[in-house]
Amino acid sequence: MKVGIIGAGQVGSAAAFALIMRGVARKIVLIDANPERAWAEAMDIAHAAPFAYANKVKAGDYADLCGCEVVIITAGANQKPGEDRLSLLGRNAKIFADIIPKAAAAAPTATLLITSNPVDIMTELALRLSGFPPCRVIGSGTVLDTARFRTLLGFYLGISPKSVHANVLGEHGDSEVLAWSNADGGTVQIDRLAQMVGRPFDAEAKADIDDCVRNAAYKIINGKGATFYGIAGALCRICQAVTTNEYAILTVSSHHAEIEGIKDLCLSMPSVVGKRGVHNVIFPELSADEHSALAAGARLVKQYTEQALSELSKL
Ligand code: NAD
Repeated sequence: MKVGIIGAGQVGSAAAFALIMRGVARKIVLIDANPERAWAEAMDIAHAAPFAYANKVKAGDYADLCGCEVVIITAGANQKPGEDRLSLLGRNAKIFADIIPKAAAAAPTATLLITSNPVDIMTELALRLSGFPPCRVIGSGTVLDTARFRTLLGFYLGISPKSVHANVLGEHGDSEVLAWSNADGGTVQIDRLAQMVGRPFDAEAKADIDDCVRNAAYKIINGKGATFYGIAGALCRICQAVTTNEYAILTVSSHHAEIEGIKDLCLSMPSVVGKRGVHNVIFPELSADEHSALAAGARLVKQYTEQALSELSKL
């Protein structure tokens, strides 16, 4: 399968590397406003391919997206230390107004996989700008945050993160909701499981995990300037679900006609992902606090989405 990546910066190139090393893509096309950068990343990754799978990576232009099953969009500004994701909106919306119509025309049957931040709002903009059906415009959403949550729960409980079922819902951002109430391991609710393994949660342990998930990007950006390996793993996992028509449940961001009473916005919920993108969305049972946190996040995302759409209409 062929994957296009628009934006060959830190996230785009790390995603291309992950796709090659895991054999998820047979061909990858890297496109960037800086063609020398795209060429250099493609060459560097191509030289790793013989150690993994005999797959092809090249730099290209929009015409080279023809036949792509997935086009990943990572073009745009990233967070600087202390900056939140919402502050990137103005800059990245202008970039999307340029690149999304070109990507949609070149790969009209692809699934668009949006990563540029603020990802939920950028996913809604990509949906409007592409004219694609909503199921084929998805954001990486909280797939990465969910992985962070499962990793920390696994460390704490001394079990594999792969055996933990726990999701982060809503915005990929400061308002995200860690759904503790339905988290489990081995079908046992996470609080009971923690008692069984002799590591009961107190409020402080939960607050520590919440802080490490919610503020992971800020902490990593303070240390190394950007985050890219975690998201690259998440993008690779989503591509695998699409290209193998896996029907995997992943917390991607997608368009909702209504969520917590707020209409027409993109947010992450557990979603069945396969060849046609999002095939179905699952609404888990949540506690009253989780419902109200999800509603607050939905209101925030809606407010910024409307602002971005109004600015786009003036371009
Ligand atoms: P980066 O600066 O390393 O790369 C961005 C690339 O986009 C650059 O190479 C730049 O030349 C290119 N670009 C800019 N305008 C373009 C255009 N019009 N056409 C084609 N290419 C263009 O940034 P990065 O660290 O790779 O981050 C990229 C985006 O991904 C940011 O918005 C960042 O916030 C986001 N991100 C999202 C997640 C997530 O979980 N969703 C995680 C990490 C980063």
